[in-house]
Amino acid sequence: MSIAQNLLKIKSSLPSTVTLVAVSKTKPISDLMEAYDAGQRIFGENKIQEMADKWEAMPKDIEWHMIGHVQTNKVKFMAPFVSLIHGVDSLKLLEEINKQAKKNNRIIDCLLQIYIAEEETKFGLDEEELNEILHFVQNDKEGLENIRIVGLMGMATFTDNQEQIKKEFTHLKSIFDYLDTKPKTLNLEPKTLSMGMSGDYPLAIECGSTMVRIGSSIFGGR
Ligand SMILES: *Cc1c(COP(=O)(O)O)cnc(C)c1O
Repeated sequence: MSIAQNLLKIKSSLPSTVTLVAVSKTKPISDLMEAYDAGQRIFGENKIQEMADKWEAMPKDIEWHMIGHVQTNKVKFMAPFVSLIHGVDSLKLLEEINKQAKKNNRIIDCLLQIYIAEEETKFGLDEEELNEILHFVQNDKEGLENIRIVGLMGMATFTDNQEQIKKEFTHLKSIFDYLDTKPKTLNLEPKTLSMGMSGDYPLAIECGSTMVRIGSSIFGGR
């Protein structure tokens, strides 16, 4: 099937409450344009330079999501245009995003990445670190007015064990529900739970995902 066919098939299977991020990392602009022409306007990349190059080359009504691990010194290259940063995993990074957003006269939406997998290689915050960040965000409103925490992101363990994946997604959903009990402030407005990729997105949706990040099922293997 073509990219457009893959995309439309996946889109028609998603509940209306779930947003699709088409993960286009490593793929050429011609592939992205095929998805664009089929109606897709949200693309996810995991390298800042590659995302910036594609942003420059492509139509300006696209929302670009950074889904990869972010190095603090590269935030400035995406601050002018990025619409959602999924992988925020430290206060230091959040402060840098705030600084660069301010320079660009913007408010940048962020998701805090939570560590839910049983793999040492994955990034993310544990619950204690999450609470530290929330405490800071809620008590230092003046300082962080150019970021907005709009939810959480997580990646399940890469395994065929559906029970384990389900357990991890359910855990993340419970943290999301906890976040929702916090008083809303200008920079804390949780609404998005980013979980689910090509291999596990139906299960993620069952567990409460509101945003899925799908690459290979749309664009083919990498
Ligand atoms: C690559 C990537 C995806 C998409 O993975 P697929 O298995 O190709 O759908 C989703 N989320 C993150 C963080 C990724 O790096």
